[in-house]
Amino acid sequence: MSAIMAIMLVFIIVGMGKRFTTFSNPLFIAWYFGQSSSMLSSSKLQTNEMMGGCPHCLSILAVKPLELSGDDLCPNCGEKLVSDEVVSKFSGEEE
Ligand SMILES: [Zn+2]
Repeated sequence: MSAIMAIMLVFIIVGMGKRFTTFSNPLFIAWYFGQSSSMLSSSKLQTNEMMGGCPHCLSILAVKPLELSGDDLCPNCGEKLVSDEVVSKFSGEEE
């Protein structure tokens, strides 16, 4: 039994090592610390845009979080990206 335990331990250590090497990927590190927009030159996102998901059809969209309003609709399914509850809640706090 001890031999099996030793083999399992080796596999666990190797698995942890593989997981750790993921952090040595500069692109992954940039993504992890939220700087991927400057790293990904192939990205079509503008500077004030970020990737977001439609809450209704789960399609990936480029949204401008600073300009997002309750009138913004999903180009894929036509549903509102921000629910009326959230809009009324935040507009109420501003007054
Ligand atoms: Zn949608």
